[in-house]
Amino acid sequence: MLAQLPSLQKLVRHLQRLPYLASKNVFKVAGYLLASDPKVVDQLCQAIVDARAVIRRCEQCCNWTEKQALCAICSSDKRNKAVICVVETWHELMAIENVGEFNGLYHVLGGALCPLEGVGPDQLTIPTLLERLNNDVQELIFATNPTPEGEATASYIWSKIANKSMVCSRLASGVPIGASLEFMDRVTIGKAMQGRRPY
Ligand SMILES: [Zn+2]
Repeated sequence: MLAQLPSLQKLVRHLQRLPYLASKNVFKVAGYLLASDPKVVDQLCQAIVDARAVIRRCEQCCNWTEKQALCAICSSDKRNKAVICVVETWHELMAIENVGEFNGLYHVLGGALCPLEGVGPDQLTIPTLLERLNNDVQELIFATNPTPEGEATASYIWSKIANKSMVCSRLASGVPIGASLEFMDRVTIGKAMQGRRPY
């Protein structure tokens, strides 16, 4: 049927290349765009082009920055530059920032180590992070995800840190607030037991 609608076929093909968009949703999104006010579609396309033109990686932490070499966090004089929180992606950075408890700097790795998918240290920003670890940095917080890949990434970075006097910690993981233990899986309860704190 799409063969008779070559423009729609082309749009669907482009949407299918987008990650995170489930294949069953591609046709829904295409239909939504076709039925939308042309002005809305123009604005969406222009917003993508504009963002792509001015947004780039911060030269220090690899977070997104607009036009400037350093992002707003790295260039702020209100942040504690002695502490770096290592995250996989900027989504996690945003999640931590939204809590408003952390006042240090970040380092965005761009993912986690996954040798089976060809993701090694050089595919991530691990070399840039290791270069950042001069004497001014006193503490590193690993906030990679509590998945096998996230754990392996934190262990790998830890193994490469020459200055072993640097304080390194891992975000605690365990029982979520408001959850009931009887519904927790074994791994979560195990992690919570290991990461228990004195009362
Ligand atoms: Zn930055």
